[in-house]
Amino acid sequence: MKSKKMLLPDHIFEDVLRIDPAFFADNGIRYLISDIDNTLATYAEAVPSERIRAWLDAVGETGVSVALISNNSASRVARFNGPLGFPVCSRAGKPFAGRLRRLMAGLGADPEQTCLLGDQLFTDVLCAHRAGIRAVLVDSIDVAGRPFLRMRKRIEARILRKNGLK
Ligand SMILES: [Mg+2]
Repeated sequence: MKSKKMLLPDHIFEDVLRIDPAFFADNGIRYLISDIDNTLATYAEAVPSERIRAWLDAVGETGVSVALISNNSASRVARFNGPLGFPVCSRAGKPFAGRLRRLMAGLGADPEQTCLLGDQLFTDVLCAHRAGIRAVLVDSIDVAGRPFLRMRKRIEARILRKNGLK
């Protein structure tokens, strides 16, 4: 894969809740590995909302196994995962793919049937492609009060537009 392509997601959605829960199974995905912050929840939400839990349940009902991967701390990830009980990887070091690969090995996940769901090109999408799996991008839920993140989102939007993805 060319380096530029490494940053481009395979699928783009505005919001996690707009993804039909059957989308993953319909596209040959058996393992969905999701980012947490700004993908499933804001930084301020310690636990998943009812709607996100219902959506994750619905994805699971299609036969897809879900796991969580986050660069955030073990305590943040453990608390968020409390009501979910998924396999997790915290302090994942995305965009480096070592810990994602280890998580996949633990799950027995075939790269062909695995995707990473996240909100950032330079961490989530790049990490997914380095591990040889598909990347699904959603808009960041909330970047207010995070100037560095907002700047990055502007650069990301430019890359997506240039490649006809936005
Ligand atoms: Mg994120």
